[in-house]
Amino acid sequence: MTALNSTHDPARRSWIDSANLSDADFPIQNLPLGAFSRDGAARAGVAIGEHAVDLHALFDSGLLAAGSDAAIACEATRDGTLNRLMAMPQRYASALRAALSDLLKSDAPQRARMQQRADALLPRIDTLELRLPCEVGDYTDFLTSLHHTERHGRYKGLADPLPPAFKSLPIAYHGRASSLRVSGGDVRRPNGQYRDANGQIVFGPAPALDFELELAAWIGEGNAFTQPIAVDDAHAHIFGYSLLNDWSAKSIQWFEQVLGPFLGKSFHSSVSPWIVTSEALAPFRKAPVARAVDDPPVMPHLHGARDRQQGGLHLELHAHLSTRQLREAGAADLRITKTHLDNLYWTFAQMVAHHTSNGCNLRAGDLLGSGTISGADDAARACLTELTNAGRDPLRLPNGETRTALEDGDEIVLSARATKPGAVSIGFGECRGRIAPAFVPRPTEVAA
Ligand code: MN
Repeated sequence: MTALNSTHDPARRSWIDSANLSDADFPIQNLPLGAFSRDGAARAGVAIGEHAVDLHALFDSGLLAAGSDAAIACEATRDGTLNRLMAMPQRYASALRAALSDLLKSDAPQRARMQQRADALLPRIDTLELRLPCEVGDYTDFLTSLHHTERHGRYKGLADPLPPAFKSLPIAYHGRASSLRVSGGDVRRPNGQYRDANGQIVFGPAPALDFELELAAWIGEGNAFTQPIAVDDAHAHIFGYSLLNDWSAKSIQWFEQVLGPFLGKSFHSSVSPWIVTSEALAPFRKAPVARAVDDPPVMPHLHGARDRQQGGLHLELHAHLSTRQLREAGAADLRITKTHLDNLYWTFAQMVAHHTSNGCNLRAGDLLGSGTISGADDAARACLTELTNAGRDPLRLPNGETRTALEDGDEIVLSARATKPGAVSIGFGECRGRIAPAFVPRPTEVAA
């Protein structure tokens, strides 16, 4: 695990005022990495308060010592993606973080030089077109909340709602990397095959559209083909984390699913743009929740002594809903989910160890989703299927609207915050998406 250092110092403040607000997602202790477009070119950056440091401009500024690990790390991002930096040993990203923290702290000697070049070095985040932080080669989605899995098993009427493998290994499927999109904008309702209310198999706009609140790990240095990663070495391979909304067309999924999810998931998945690094999260490490006494013992290759002490995070996650009617009435988003990372039965280190246990190689930029982070409490149900008891108890909104599934115009915003006494709380920004109507298949034109 990453040791605490001066970048975590809770007394450290920035000369960028918006970073010092108590509810800031991006205080100087966070410094998450992302990417954006400027004048048509891709740029990598680091968020601080309401601003982003343009790493391309920072490298050109001469503010980083030439030849230092920080400068080498910064130069590795000059193609506007983080893949090369992510693939490097973590000390490079760590050196860049330390250098940025020193440049942005309130008593930084270089403050005046940076302020003079604020437009080049420090654009406002809300003026930027954010991009995926890296090219994602492979995307894997796990299923690690016992409560989410059990509830779905009950909805399907299974005698044993938990699959036999659930407590032996972190269950997963291979997702689709090409349709991952950064937060914001439209999420087009997919067309697909499903069984309608009369039991007929039809093709059309999928009615039962849902969100899934997840956390996702970005892989840093990969492993060699055939060489598994040990649980307690996994953290050296996790570059950081983002929020993930695994949009799900349940009507398609329930009809098609034999070999695992396919078109019910692959139409669109949203990630938050800023990668909160493993190093930034170091102060918020905690022991994961212990397994029940009558659970099967963890196999040796999924057990790590350090993971048992440090594999969890003090991290609360939220989902908010707004509808077209609520927005037109000027109403605020409604918080519909409040959950905690403690609701995962497996840790990310165990997911990495399991994923590579057969020799499969992970590569820098791969994304590993946790699965829907539902808890036992009603408030901690992290998708609409659970929030509505599979449609039996519609969600009732204060303006009289009801929902059993997402309608066109509905918007979901995911957020998360790491909090621990004695540490400066850090956030993840948001993962936002609004449902747009399905494309209507064009009818065959008949010649007049
Ligand atoms: Mn999922």
